[in-house]
Amino acid sequence: MRKLELHWRILIGMFLGVVFAYLMVQLEWGPKFVSDWIKPFGNIFINSLKLIAVPLILGSLIKGVSDLKDISKLSKMGGRTIGIYVLTTVIAVSIGLGVVNLIKPGSSISQETRNELVENYKGDADSKIAEAAKQRDAGPLRALEDLVPDNIFQAASDNGNMLQVIFFAILFGVGLILIPEEQASPVKKFFDGFNEVILKLIDLIMLAAPFGVFALLAALVVESPSLDLFKALGWYALSVVIGLTLMICVYLFIVWIVTKKTPAFFLKGISPAQLLAFSTSSSAATLPVTMERVEEHLGVEEEVTSFVLPIGATINMDGTSLYQAVAAVFIAQAFGMDLSLSAQLGIIVTATLASIGSAAVPGAGMVMLVIVLAQAGIPEAGLALIFAVDRPLDMCRTVVNVTGDATVSMVVAKSVGKLGEPKVKDWDDHYKGKKVI
Ligand code: ASP
Repeated sequence: MRKLELHWRILIGMFLGVVFAYLMVQLEWGPKFVSDWIKPFGNIFINSLKLIAVPLILGSLIKGVSDLKDISKLSKMGGRTIGIYVLTTVIAVSIGLGVVNLIKPGSSISQETRNELVENYKGDADSKIAEAAKQRDAGPLRALEDLVPDNIFQAASDNGNMLQVIFFAILFGVGLILIPEEQASPVKKFFDGFNEVILKLIDLIMLAAPFGVFALLAALVVESPSLDLFKALGWYALSVVIGLTLMICVYLFIVWIVTKKTPAFFLKGISPAQLLAFSTSSSAATLPVTMERVEEHLGVEEEVTSFVLPIGATINMDGTSLYQAVAAVFIAQAFGMDLSLSAQLGIIVTATLASIGSAAVPGAGMVMLVIVLAQAGIPEAGLALIFAVDRPLDMCRTVVNVTGDATVSMVVAKSVGKLGEPKVKDWDDHYKGKKVI
């Protein structure tokens, strides 16, 4: 019998996870059972994805850069990638501002609910504010300084240092281009093989994806706050979701216009990565799958994916920037502040920079939101207002972050003549003729 396609299997896993959690919360011992016996499997799944992020970046980026054979190609691609990333982020913030000004979710929130939310989430908000203070105190060139590791093993031992690993891999790849072919060839062959092994590991880990997302969603539902608070923040959440949906439409349009690929083709190719982004709330954990899907199912050549996607996962967060814009204006509205046009234009700049600085892990966007609020003169304590619904919105914005990276990699690939036909049309092709386990 033909197996169901991967995205269906993941969706079924997610659905069953939610249903299972609802049944378990009815039982007295249910929530503890889920935390003790189900949640760890979700964590194992996320860890196994994170485990291969650093080796994947090293292997594929070194191979990708050295395959370019010419440094001018690298700078051409680099310039385009960063340029398009910034452009899509500015579009995202503008959409967010448009939606939140139209819906005005903050005006409908009552004084009573506001006080209740501030009271309930003050502690959580304070810890995010303290985290943000550390980042804000850094000097203007700090980000640049942080890019260059003083020890590659140390950098590679922390997933939070992804940009440093990227820097090293690009440098190493450039070195490989510059040395004579005779010496470069065995090193390249090693990284070629290394890279293939890592890609195979992603296939193997993805076999467990439906079970992994089942565990992740079950744990999330059991631990989520009461529905009443969700309702109070309904208009705000809706504004974020509408903005994010519009952004996805923008991507589909861009892909269609630039590459002539239909929305159905694009969504079918990228959907497993989107579902994983939703379940894990982390673009970094999703990166291995994003790379595999874009390369094998959307037809982008490895030289482009290996360069554009790891950089995108760390600096291109359109969903996060859109959310930061909506959240900032929502908090201002809830506190009865009227934001001038120039304050809103300032948000475009700060939200763009803040999303670049956000780490690709759950909840990171909220820490950087503190900086956006401070710049716009909005009370930081307002963070407490949006805490209750942050996790579900984090799940949604991470989907957009990942989709944005995939879109830009297709556009860059097209512009440098590296967009071909997908290597794999069907998930089962991976295993044809090969016994995997
Ligand atoms: N969770 C997001 C990501 O990993 C970042 C954020 O907005 O919190 O892309």
